Formats: sequence, structure tokens, C-alpha cells
Amino acid sequence: MNIELPIFEQQLKVETQKYLFNGVQWASWLSIFLACVIIVNDVAKTAHLIVASQTILFVFPVFIVTILGLLAAKIIGEKKSNQTILITFAGILTLSWVYAVLSLLPYLDALDLETGGATLSGVESLIDILVLTFAIALFPHRGLMLTTVSLFIMIGMVVRIVELPGHLLFPLTKYLCLLVIVISAQKVLYSWFKKAILRDVEKQQLVKQFRRMALIDGLTGLSNRRHFDEILAQEIRVSERNRHPLSLILLDVDFFKRLNDKLGHQVGDDCLMALGRILSEIASRPRDLAARYGGEEFVLILPNTDTAGAETVAAKLKQALREAKIPNPDSDVSQYVTVSQGICQWQALESSDDYLARADSYLYKAKHGGRDTYYSDAAIL
Ligand code: GH3
Ligand code: MG
Ligand code: MG
Repeated sequence: MNIELPIFEQQLKVETQKYLFNGVQWASWLSIFLACVIIVNDVAKTAHLIVASQTILFVFPVFIVTILGLLAAKIIGEKKSNQTILITFAGILTLSWVYAVLSLLPYLDALDLETGGATLSGVESLIDILVLTFAIALFPHRGLMLTTVSLFIMIGMVVRIVELPGHLLFPLTKYLCLLVIVISAQKVLYSWFKKAILRDVEKQQLVKQFRRMALIDGLTGLSNRRHFDEILAQEIRVSERNRHPLSLILLDVDFFKRLNDKLGHQVGDDCLMALGRILSEIASRPRDLAARYGGEEFVLILPNTDTAGAETVAAKLKQALREAKIPNPDSDVSQYVTVSQGICQWQALESSDDYLARADSYLYKAKHGGRDTYYSDAAIL
């Protein structure tokens, strides 16, 4: 199926935004957890609250940023957030982690090689976790994700080079592999992400198309009989509840068979389409409905309208047809297309079938009253 590119691109933007909103929140919760682990780990290792309180200072910005970010997300909500806000927040969160990681480094110098090795591997594990966290949280935004992840990987490499310059081959290869894995995984995941959105857009368009096919008449673009039945039942319920008047006009083209016979079926179809356009202009209030009832019969549902109001609409239609001058050379009443109309207002407790039968009887009277006229439950006009 051919889907419209702007709709897909718009949906891709919306879904990316949604993912980033959730991803950044997820990274924030994970950051709080990681910061707590670092502090608990330090308290357990040093068995000294004063020394550990230094670590609290290192990760303090992470706490502040994440808590403020989560609060802001709650207040702003997904709908009102935008990409600039999310990118800025992801940037600030990254920087708070960079500060935490760099602040942990002087620890290494202060300790002997054995403990220093242990602390270094701790910092490296933290960097690995941050790389994975930010890669997953930000993957639909390739630029942002790669910037963040590369920054962490670069810090990891520099830490290694500065702290243990003699043992570089394995750790540097590891970081390089990590970068390659993240870049490839982003490509694969992003193509799945795009495919899922494409399918979603296709599904929405198909549903729209099926709905249209189910409710709209193919020739005139008006509502079809099925939609008309649904809306009439609904409007009857509304009128029953709030006692507002509801009117209906059933109309039929005069001598349409002769038009078909004289000018051909295609011209007949063109006439029905033109009539459809006129009717949708006539039924112009938001809840008015113009429908093709069948063949060359049409119907207008006019909520909040009494018989007198519906008669005004019928007169408008008669005038519009007069101005449209659609030829019907063999008609007995005019050289142009005319219609006969049956108008009636819904009566309390009347079923939709009885209501339609009454409208049909007025239409019949209009036909037998000479055509190109309307007959209502008020009077013959
Ligand atoms: P009356 O004034 O009594 O209504 O005469 P009429 O000729 O309009 O009445 P009738 O109901 O006998 O004719 C309706 C015609 O409408 C017959 C049918 O071939 C034609 N018709 C029904 N649907 C379509 C359509 O979709 N396209 C075309 N071109 N003609 C249609
Ligand atoms: Mg007919
Ligand atoms: Mg007819």
C-alpha cells in the first residue's frame, strides 16, 4: 500500500519524541540507582562515613539533575515536552555523570596499585553501564546517542591511558569494539523502529479507508445508507433525551429514468454527483447529515430543526437546483433536474422505521402533487 510520506515522517517524529521522553526518564531512574550503588559501595569499602561523604558529593549533581528532571517530566507531561527540552536534559544528565566519573579519579592516585586497580575497574564498569544505558535510552536520536556514548567511551580510554599506561591493548580494543557494537545495534534497532511505525501508519490508513468504504457512498461521497441508519438512530436518542426537534427530508429526483435514457448512464451519474455536492452544501450545520438513501433517492437529517426550519432547507435546495441548471430534457416539469421532497419532524416514541415510512408517504404525496415540490407534516406548499 502507498502511504503518504509526510504522515509517516510526522508519525516517526511523534514516536521518536515519545521514546526519548520515556528513555530519558528510564535513564534518570537508573542513574539514581547507580548513584546509590556507588555510595553504598564506598561506605562498605571504606567503612568510613566521612570518606564516603566525599563520594556523595561526586554524585550529588546526578541526584539533583535526575530528581529535577523526573519532576519536570511529571509536570510538563509527554504531550507538552519537545525534543529540544529532552536533548538539553539528556546533555545535562550526561555532564553530571562526566563530573561524577572524573571526580572519582583522584581516588586512584591516592591509593596503592592493588586498590587502585580495583577502583579503576569500578570506574570502567560504571562507564560500561553508562554507555549501555544511554545507548538504549537515546537510540532513536542517532546524533545525541553517539555524542553521549562517545564521550563516555573517550573518558574510559583517557582514564586507562593516564592511570595504567602499560596495559593498553586489551582495554582500548574493548572500548573500540563497544563503540562498533553500539553503532551497529543502533542501525538495526532504528530500522526495526521505523518499520514498526510504517506498519502502524499503514494500519491506521487501512482502517480509515475501510471505515470510509463502510460509511461513504462511492459515487457521491455522501454518507451511505448504513451510516445514515446509525446517525438517525443516534439523533432520535438525542431528541428523546433533550426534547429538541429533529427533522428529516427524503427526496427523489424527478424523471431520472428519462435523464438516463436520454443522456446516458454516465451523465446520470454526473447528475447524482452534482446533486451530492449541492446537498452537502445545503446540510451545512455541524450535525446535519446528507446521505444517499439508494439509487436517485437522498435524505437529509436536520437535528435541532422543526418542520418549518426543514421547509426552509427544502426551499433552499429547490432554489439551488434551479440555479445549477442540470439538464433533464425529457422531464415533464422542467428542462432541468428537479426533486420531490417529503419533510417531517420526529414525533415522540416514533421508531426510525415508522419515521422513515412517514417521510416516504410525504414524498409520495409530493410526487403525486406534481413533482418539483415538497410536502410536509405541516401543509402542502
Ligand atoms: P420519478 O419522478 O417518479 O421518481 O421518476 P424516476 O424516473 O426518477 O423514477 P424511477 O424510480 O422509476 O427511476 C429511478 C432511476 O434511477 C432508475 C435507475 O436506473 C436510476 N438509477 C438508480 N441508481 C442510479 C445510479 O447510480 N446511476 C444512474 N445513472 N442511474 C441510477
Ligand atoms: Mg426513485
Ligand atoms: Mg425518481
